[in-house]
Amino acid sequence: MKDRLIRQLKARGELLKQFGAGYGFKVESVEPEEKETDPKETLEKLKKRIGNCKRCELCETRKNIVFGVGDPDARIFFVGEGPGEEEDIQGEPFVGRAGQLLTNIITGGMGLKREDVYIANIVKCRPPGNRNPKPAEAIECLPFLKAQIAAVNPEVIICLGKIAVLYLLQKAEPIGQLRGRWTSYNDIQVMPTFHPSYLLRNPAAKAEVWKDIQEVMKKLGIPIPSKK
Ligand code: URA
Repeated sequence: MKDRLIRQLKARGELLKQFGAGYGFKVESVEPEEKETDPKETLEKLKKRIGNCKRCELCETRKNIVFGVGDPDARIFFVGEGPGEEEDIQGEPFVGRAGQLLTNIITGGMGLKREDVYIANIVKCRPPGNRNPKPAEAIECLPFLKAQIAAVNPEVIICLGKIAVLYLLQKAEPIGQLRGRWTSYNDIQVMPTFHPSYLLRNPAAKAEVWKDIQEVMKKLGIPIPSKK
């Protein structure tokens, strides 16, 4: 019991450190002034608002800003970490090797099209060498992701990997402990699962991700294909 408390306090301290608490970060408000009703229009306005972003140092090395893609009325919103090399080149999230795997999950596993869901990342510019986004970068970019989520208003968010969970849900526990358990973000149901890049390195974990995806499908009434 005492050990668990100490672990939780340490995790919280780590999170505060990661979020730069006490360093006086000023986070931009991107909430629309009036209640917008058309998600497509809201997303377009947000994209314009990001503009040729220079809010953090990632602008110095990126080729393209990777805003996000998909159906503005999607029921499912995938949140990744940040663009990789291929995403940076194409300006679209999850189009590299990990992206191919995510596309297979969406199409082969869920029986949907990529265009049926919405996909975006914690940071919209590629961290050099695919390093983890720095807290200052994530904090700067997060209001835009949150505004995208508010615009799309999905029924379920699928958080891909520990960075998505850390910054969107402010949970610092290992993803292995959080995956497969429903949680929520602003009254939206959230399913954390492993990141597709992790699956490329650990194919055995695909079975767990498939379990998590089936939970989402059950919740949304999407038929689960019977085993062939
Ligand atoms: N990994 C991510 O987290 N996001 C992408 O867009 C691509 C790879």
